[in-house]
Amino acid sequence: MENTVSLKINGIPVTVPEGYTILQAAKEANIEIPTLCYLKDVNCIGACRVCVVEIKGRRGLVASCVYPVEEGMEVLTNTPAVRKSRKTTLELILSSHNKKCLSCPKNNHCELQKLSLEYNVDEDRFAGDEEFPEVDDKSPYIIRDNSKCIKCMRCVAACKKLQSVSVIGAIRRGYNVHVGCAFEESLNDAPCVGCGQCVVACPVGALTEKSQTDKVWEAIADPDKKVVLFTAPSIRATLGECFDMAPGTDVEGKMVAAARRLGVDKVFNMNFTADLTIVEEAHEFVERVKNGGTLPMFTSCCPGWVKFLEHYYPEFIPNVSSCKSPQQMFGAVLKSYYCEKEGIDPKDLFVVSIIPCTAKKFEVTREEQFALGMPDVDVSLTTRELGSMIKEAGVMFTALEDEKFDNPFETASGGGEIFGATGGVMEAALRTAAHILDESLEVTDFVEVRGQKGVKEATYTVGGVKVNVAVASGLANARQVIEDIKSGRKDYQFVEVMACPGGCINGGGQPIQSDSVRNNVDLKALRSEVLYTSDKNNSIRKSHESPVIKMVYDEYFGAPGSEKAHKLLHTTYVNRKK
Ligand code: SF4
Ligand code: SF4
Ligand code: SF4
Repeated sequence: MENTVSLKINGIPVTVPEGYTILQAAKEANIEIPTLCYLKDVNCIGACRVCVVEIKGRRGLVASCVYPVEEGMEVLTNTPAVRKSRKTTLELILSSHNKKCLSCPKNNHCELQKLSLEYNVDEDRFAGDEEFPEVDDKSPYIIRDNSKCIKCMRCVAACKKLQSVSVIGAIRRGYNVHVGCAFEESLNDAPCVGCGQCVVACPVGALTEKSQTDKVWEAIADPDKKVVLFTAPSIRATLGECFDMAPGTDVEGKMVAAARRLGVDKVFNMNFTADLTIVEEAHEFVERVKNGGTLPMFTSCCPGWVKFLEHYYPEFIPNVSSCKSPQQMFGAVLKSYYCEKEGIDPKDLFVVSIIPCTAKKFEVTREEQFALGMPDVDVSLTTRELGSMIKEAGVMFTALEDEKFDNPFETASGGGEIFGATGGVMEAALRTAAHILDESLEVTDFVEVRGQKGVKEATYTVGGVKVNVAVASGLANARQVIEDIKSGRKDYQFVEVMACPGGCINGGGQPIQSDSVRNNVDLKALRSEVLYTSDKNNSIRKSHESPVIKMVYDEYFGAPGSEKAHKLLHTTYVNRKK
């Protein structure tokens, strides 16, 4: 039986497990203590001092996020001394902060702004730095503006702890300490994988995606361009949060209606190319198994993971599936098959993807993927950027009636739908691979690979073939899986990796919830549930059974792995190890 500790917080008795912090115990008593540098499961360093509390009978204040509870302790979270300390801390942070709030991408969603309002701070009480460091905007995906940085180190912890990448850290000492890459190089030149987990961890506007909404507005206004937009599987599960809807609300119909109101010519469903990826990937896997190809095979649909492998484990490049990601496949299908079918010059087609991801902004620039001598996708926008375009266009999102995707890419299987959650790609691929190996098999649910665990394993025997699979999300977990393979501790045949913990539903381009939500709600589980419910209710569960998939093979590609499919839907990788 676990040991417990009884204490009082603001006079309320509470009993919690031994080892709990005061912050955790306060939650049990329904008392919220404000935090800034603390982020559950990511950063717990007691540095910002916003979460300070008083302990009866002791001098001074303690940081509740790191201070453990003790038997009989009496904690006070809302005394004049506590409030004064928090207010002064915020005023000191603001003294060297670039307070251009109105044009800040985090305006109205900034945790510093929210606390400053709640504590009625005087933003000019202390005079600090007047000169601000240069903005790092060299990378195609993230902008780092240290003039907004409050040195909370949440990004540093996300990059190190969740991703095991550690390309950003604290540089210099004392008052001059700031966050940056080694030797002050740009994120673009560092072995950063572009996952954006630092961006979703940042409480202020110091880290943001590189917005490209202007380019999309320009294309929409250009009478010579046909603009088509498609949305990734997870966007329907998260876009509502940009409009204050509850996490876990399925907004597919409203999302389509809103995207159409931006003035684009077509709104397509990227679940279709999630299906296409699965069909190509499952055939590639079976080929490798039957013909002694390189195993284990790694999935390739996550560009953050692919770039991680290219930088840190290039010796495993032959293990990565040659399939492009669903984003890139859709771009290639649109600029080839769709343009031919509709009589459009591919140069006049402007393709916009809506993606949960910052890494995909880099992916669209990969020249080895330009099958037609031009980018497959012209602009890749995050969920947040789509949300801001909808607001800018004055579309009343929550009041919209549901609408359907455009033909001919309107429907997809349940396999395509679950792509946005960790384990979803593996499960969808197994549904199709099992069918290829044994057509009489009716199995659709591979539940062992579902859920939020960082690494999941299972063994299946299909058509006489035994397959050990592993699913990892978060690159620290992926690193563990690779090290296990390298050392011979594990023998897998098929491995799925998604760079973001929980998969794309928790991607670096998804709506950012404040720490008060993230510390208390299981966002990943709520968002994933939308996708699994949709899969369950879909009459077509397997990717290869989708009528749109049958149509594109019948009319254009011939068969999975055909020469045409290889030219347009497959790619190569680059050794980036320095
Ligand atoms: S994008 Fe990912 S890898 Fe790059 S700095 Fe941020 S967390 Fe680290
Ligand atoms: S960039 Fe953002 S997350 Fe990183 S230390 Fe600065 S304020 Fe914190
Ligand atoms: S897990 Fe999804 S959101 Fe995250 S980097 Fe990979 S593809 Fe992008």
